[in-house]
Amino acid sequence: MTTIQSQISAVRALMADACRAAGRADDAVSLLAVSKTFDADAVLAAFAAGQRAFGENYLQEAVPKITALNHLPLQWHCIGPVQSNKTRLVAEHFDWVQTVDRAKIAERLSQQRPAHLPPLQVCIQVNVDGGATKSGVLPDAALALAQAVAGLPGLRLRGLMCIPEPAPDFATACTVFKRARALFDAMNASGLALDTLSMGMSADLQAAIASGSTMVRVGSAIFGARPHAVSETSRPVLPA
Ligand SMILES: *Cc1c(COP(=O)(O)O)cnc(C)c1O
Repeated sequence: MTTIQSQISAVRALMADACRAAGRADDAVSLLAVSKTFDADAVLAAFAAGQRAFGENYLQEAVPKITALNHLPLQWHCIGPVQSNKTRLVAEHFDWVQTVDRAKIAERLSQQRPAHLPPLQVCIQVNVDGGATKSGVLPDAALALAQAVAGLPGLRLRGLMCIPEPAPDFATACTVFKRARALFDAMNASGLALDTLSMGMSADLQAAIASGSTMVRVGSAIFGARPHAVSETSRPVLPA
C-alpha cells in the first residue's frame, strides 16, 4: 500500500470515529481529497484507494490535471476563489464549485456551462466568522444569493461551504461550525433543498463532523505537507 493509500484509510477511520461519536451514520460525511499542488500520480494513487472526489484551488494547475485524467470517473470540485475572468474555465472543466459568493459570478458560470454537461453543482461560500480572508457571503445575505443560484439553469444549488479561521481548541471550532450548521438548517426550513455542508479540513475535521458537516475537504492529511503552503496551520484541533 502506498503512503497516500494508507493515509486515506486513516482519514476515513477518523471520519467514521467522529461520526460514531456524534451519533451520526458512518456514511453521513463524504471525503473530498484536496490535491492542489500534487501531481496526477498522487491523484491516481488516491483513485486506487477508491477516492473519486478531488478538490483544486488553482486553475492553471487544475485544468491540465483534470484534462490528463479525463479517462477516469473522477469528480472535480473548485474550492479556490473564482474571479469573473476565470468563470469559463471553471464552467467547462469542473463538476462542482464550492466558492460562489456573488450573484454576478453565479450568472456567468450558468451562462458559460456547456450544454452537453450536467448543471454545475454549487455551494455558496459563507463567511461565518467574519474571517480575514474576506471570501464568502455574509450569513445575512446567504439566503438571497442561494435563491438567485437556485433559479439559474446551468447551476444546481447543493449547499454551503465555509473556511473559518483556525480555532485554538475543539470547543471554539465547534462553536463556529455549529453557526454554519444552523444557517444551513434555517435555509432548508425556508424552502431550499440543500444536501451539502462542506466544512472541516485536516486539522479540524472532527470538530466539523461533530457540528454537522456533510463533506470534509482534506489535503495534507492525505497527500502530505504542501511544497509551497502559505500561512496555513496544520495544528490539529482535537476533541477535548
Ligand atoms: C487547501 C484547502 C483545504 C485542505 O487543507 P488541509 O489543511 O491540507 O486539509 C481545504 N479547503 C480549502 C478551501 C483549501 O484551500
